[in-house]
Amino acid sequence: MTLKTGDDNHCVLCQLRVLEDWQHLFFSCVFSRRIWAFLQIDWCSGPSIDVVVQRTVISFGHPFLFEVVAFACWHIWKQRNGPIFADVAPSFRSWRVAFVHDLSLLKHRFKPGLVTRFTAWLDSLLYDTCNSTVGLVGFNKLL
Ligand SMILES: [Zn+2]
Repeated sequence: MTLKTGDDNHCVLCQLRVLEDWQHLFFSCVFSRRIWAFLQIDWCSGPSIDVVVQRTVISFGHPFLFEVVAFACWHIWKQRNGPIFADVAPSFRSWRVAFVHDLSLLKHRFKPGLVTRFTAWLDSLLYDTCNSTVGLVGFNKLL
């Protein structure tokens, strides 16, 4: 196994061969854009990151945007490290399985009044025909 040094600052998740920075992660990376679409997160444009976040919180419409984004970014990061450190190709499917697993565990840490809403949102991702790669198969069959 060859361990890459990490000196290459180009995104390894897509074929754009562009600098890996936050703008690329949130707005132009094909791999990440697929994830944001799956999560129904529409990163709104704005003159600063503060405005972008404020607008995205409103458009997302649920009080757990930061938890979803944090878990999504964590698993994007792990997908990004796969080809660099373990010679494992990134894939949306493996990202989705890990993300859904970890996020479903998080619901046990929410206040009781929020669990139903969070569970409904998570279920909507799994049963949404627009996210047809999951379709009606359901979460348990992904694991
Ligand atoms: Zn990319």
